[in-house]
Amino acid sequence: KPDPGTFDLSEKPVQKNIGILTSGGDAQGMNPCVRAVVRMAIARKCRPFFIYEGYQGLVDGGDKIKQAKWTDVSGFLTSGGTMIGTARCKEFREIEGRRTGVYNLIKKGIDALVVIGGDGSLTGADKLRAEWPDHVAALEKDGRISKEDANKYRTLMIVGMVGSIDNDLASTDMTIGACSALERICESVDAILSTAMSHQRAFVVEVMGRHCGWLALNAAISTGADYLFIPEAPPKDDWEESMCKTLKASRDAGKRTSLVIVAEGALDRNLNPIKPDYIKDILSTRLGYDTRVTILGHVQRGGAPAHFDRFLGTMQGAEAIEAILRATPDTPSPVIGMLENKITTQPLKEAIELTGQVAQAIESKDFARAMALRSASFSKQLTSYKEIANFNPDSKMKLPQEKRLRIAILHAGAPAGGMNTATRSAVRLCINRGHTPLGVHNGFPGLMRGEISELDWLSVDGWTIAGGSKLGTNRDQPTPQMGAVAYQLQKHNVQALMVIGGFEAFTAVLELARNRDQYPAFNIPMVLVPATVSNNVPGTEFSLGSDTASNVIVRSTDMIKQSASSNRRRVFVIEVQGGNCGYLAVMAGLSGGSTTVYTPEEGVDLTRLQRDITHLRTRYIKELGRSEGRVTLCNENASKIYSTEMIAKIYEAESGGFYGARTSVLGHLQQGGTPSPLDRCRANTMAVDSINWLQSRCWEAMEIPNEDNIRLPSDQLKRKYFPRVYSNTPDTAAVIGVIGSEVRFTPIKDLVAHTDFGRRVPRTIWWGASRQLVDILSGVGVDIENG
Ligand code: ATP
Repeated sequence: KPDPGTFDLSEKPVQKNIGILTSGGDAQGMNPCVRAVVRMAIARKCRPFFIYEGYQGLVDGGDKIKQAKWTDVSGFLTSGGTMIGTARCKEFREIEGRRTGVYNLIKKGIDALVVIGGDGSLTGADKLRAEWPDHVAALEKDGRISKEDANKYRTLMIVGMVGSIDNDLASTDMTIGACSALERICESVDAILSTAMSHQRAFVVEVMGRHCGWLALNAAISTGADYLFIPEAPPKDDWEESMCKTLKASRDAGKRTSLVIVAEGALDRNLNPIKPDYIKDILSTRLGYDTRVTILGHVQRGGAPAHFDRFLGTMQGAEAIEAILRATPDTPSPVIGMLENKITTQPLKEAIELTGQVAQAIESKDFARAMALRSASFSKQLTSYKEIANFNPDSKMKLPQEKRLRIAILHAGAPAGGMNTATRSAVRLCINRGHTPLGVHNGFPGLMRGEISELDWLSVDGWTIAGGSKLGTNRDQPTPQMGAVAYQLQKHNVQALMVIGGFEAFTAVLELARNRDQYPAFNIPMVLVPATVSNNVPGTEFSLGSDTASNVIVRSTDMIKQSASSNRRRVFVIEVQGGNCGYLAVMAGLSGGSTTVYTPEEGVDLTRLQRDITHLRTRYIKELGRSEGRVTLCNENASKIYSTEMIAKIYEAESGGFYGARTSVLGHLQQGGTPSPLDRCRANTMAVDSINWLQSRCWEAMEIPNEDNIRLPSDQLKRKYFPRVYSNTPDTAAVIGVIGSEVRFTPIKDLVAHTDFGRRVPRTIWWGASRQLVDILSGVGVDIENG
């Protein structure tokens, strides 16, 4: 039996004819989703049908509904937009139009429909499902379909997936396309920031989102914007004054730029639109800032899908087929969604109703309800954004003196995208609350040497978008000089510790926790924020940096594939990082369309290579004359014997002359560059959650100072102003992680049993289904000819 969550292809499926359409506004990631639906349908011995141009194709019928073959979706992973077309179809809004659609579906023998679109498209799908029996009865009565057909097609199963850059469907954290649109926005705003900085300009940037501020909020978090306007949370009256005051405070503190992000549907409390030109006028006239407006427009819809959208579209597309095969005539039509890292299904009707209620709540000025209807993560992000966006020297958020803490932040291990973003968020949150953030430079060796300094507001300016580690990071452990670590923590009155890093950071925090009995200074709350491209930290399904690295690999794979195709029939074996964890190879393999992946978890042997070579030869024999290039991804530690080089040599030696093979080693490229917006957003959330957690643990464990019980050397007398925090219970040294649909703090000691320390990986993996899909979707073991 496959692991739970993996696909059981051995089950005897009921053969179905499955139509697929994309509707409404296009979104990057629709194509990967269509590809997964088509290929998974064929793998499950069903017949997929393209319905071109959205509901228009359904109404037009004829050639607009056509059986899809396996190779029809080749190249879909890398393309933005939708290759099967989309349209806004008036006829489908009318009952007659929908009836014609039903007739066309029955005539083509289609008994299930997959719809990828926005809330409008899914509303149409829901109507079609509800009305289906009536349409069938009417068509039979009119003699347009036979009695047998009427009996055979008594119900239609519909599965919805949300393709929308706005991320506006209630009850899912992410919709297909939102992440790529966010990438387009961040690319542009990152570029704007450098010119804004040179000229000390203010920029007002409008992003898409008519009824939903997700893109604007996440863009503001990812770029470190100073001010934000979204439809769900209109500003207070006289916002112009408070905006000017806020931006001026940041400029007075030394910032050279001001950045305002506005959602296109931004409103004030009286439902009047807030437009970029108006904001510009305010900033120019009241503050005298040289202000420019940039409206990003359709750029946001364009370009190749980001890794995450390819992953999301692919996983959801495969799940759509499973949902169809599981369904009975009474199963309500589901919409596939995602909460944190868990693919979910929920009744389509409910999701649409909830989404509709957001717009109604805004119209009736019930903004609190509008926020409550969005996902929990959305309002959490907004709260944290507001708390850290601006410099608030006299902030109401400041805590009473006795609750303020000295919190040290340290990077450990290799650099990973998002380390700096997390640090900036933590520092600014600390400063606005009155805590003192201490930056530890150069990892644990730096800590031992006492390389610690207070970080101020400006010192972390620009860190949101900066790759690498600004504090400096190091792989060395604290173990050889525990005493020095304890001395420095004590000397600098550190009351809580945030370590950002990968497996080295994990073992380091574990060692500190284990040595609490010997070193009193370690009896402070400690949290590990996982950050490593390898994503091998126990206690979380995601580490910061792993999305950035996946994006780098996927972009490289796209380019290498293009080269391979141009050279005609060439296979590249691409080596990727990950240590003993195959996560990166699998994720990037899935979203980059790798023929197969080699991971340390599975190893490599001759039987496996023989299988893959047979597959490659078969594919190239069948496709002679076509210029297909292929890639396989190989983790750096997949095998001690079958190295990347050797796999390529064996591939070529056994190719029978049908293809050539080359290698490409991506190396440290994967750790570098600008962090992906997703890593920046996750970094912000993890940092804010971690500071909140450290704060609570500290307050629980605080010993209120009393002149009598302070026994300190006189040169450290000032220490009495920092109440001693003494926390030695296991739950006060933890790893923050995303597990399924939750963000959790797991005591680090509890993770020992789940860790393979020799191989430096968690003992269980959550991405088994993704691994399986890499092979299924490239046709390994699938009867492609049937499709
Ligand atoms: P986006 O979020 O990008 O606008 P959308 O799916 O919401 O995407 P719409 O233009 O609202 O885009 O809907 C797309 C198509 O879905 C419409 O052209 C129409 O054919 C169908 N549709 C939308 N709403 C309904 C409805 N209430 N009843 C029937 N069909 C509908």
